[in-house]
Amino acid sequence: MIRIGLDIGGTGIKVGAVNEQNRIVAETSIPTRTDIPFGEQVDRMAECVRELLNPETDPELSMDRVVSIGAGIPGLANHDGVVINCTNLGWHYTPLREEFRKRIGKPFFVDNDANVAALAESVAGVSAGSSSSVFVTLGTGIGSGIIINGRIWKGFHGIGGELGHMILELDGVPCTCGNRGCVERYCSATALIRMAREQAAAHPDSLIFSLAGGDPMKISAKTVFDAKREGDPVAEKLFRRYVSYLSQMLASLVNFLDPEIIVLGGGVSKAGNLLLDAVRSEIPRYVLYNDQPLPRVEIAALGAEAGIIGAAMLS
Ligand SMILES: [Zn+2]
Repeated sequence: MIRIGLDIGGTGIKVGAVNEQNRIVAETSIPTRTDIPFGEQVDRMAECVRELLNPETDPELSMDRVVSIGAGIPGLANHDGVVINCTNLGWHYTPLREEFRKRIGKPFFVDNDANVAALAESVAGVSAGSSSSVFVTLGTGIGSGIIINGRIWKGFHGIGGELGHMILELDGVPCTCGNRGCVERYCSATALIRMAREQAAAHPDSLIFSLAGGDPMKISAKTVFDAKREGDPVAEKLFRRYVSYLSQMLASLVNFLDPEIIVLGGGVSKAGNLLLDAVRSEIPRYVLYNDQPLPRVEIAALGAEAGIIGAAMLS
């Protein structure tokens, strides 16, 4: 038996067949098109699935053997497979499941890409075998997914699990959601870069500034971590501040949910042990019962494959 996963992104759509050992056995991709009507977008995706399922190349790859099809989207979908909002694709209250099933009559599931990555990690990644886990992506924005007993928890109405828009700072930095001071404005890669640019402007002699070739627009999250590793005092201070925001958010998560494991993904998580060691030692400062065992904090293991694997696992 195989399951099909679609990783639908703003620029490309990856489609993969996943076997019973949770491995991708065939994969293809198409560019995302937003200049065509929704029906044609679904036609292209369904066609891509059919092309992937070519039993002549591999007898396992036949439509008869497909159990289900799942899709991860950079947006919000409800329990009925309706995409409530997906800005990158221009979808708004779009019946993706209904339309997909008209083309391929298999069970079809759709969920947010962070929920999908959370599920993938809990099945085939670093949180495999855990009874509860929370996955947090520290990327352009903040994505998060909660897995309890092998199932995504997205709330009664399907809109929960969004750590990125918890408010961390009263009257803080304005957020794209319309509120101020959201976690996303302090813990994402975008936030770290914003803070680094401010610091580079105030301290033109800092290593952050010179590693970016004197161009603040070239500062990345990696620039900050590289400068910190070199012992730059401005980068050190900035790193401490970032870790403090991140650890306070994660400590709130521990206080509220106490999951078995917290998984960090996204661009910032590429800092690896540098980030992990700092966060692990900082979280207990803010946790209520810090004399009790605390959740493990780990870096995501699956990388780019998580999108396809997790989508295929949806049920
Ligand atoms: Zn927000």
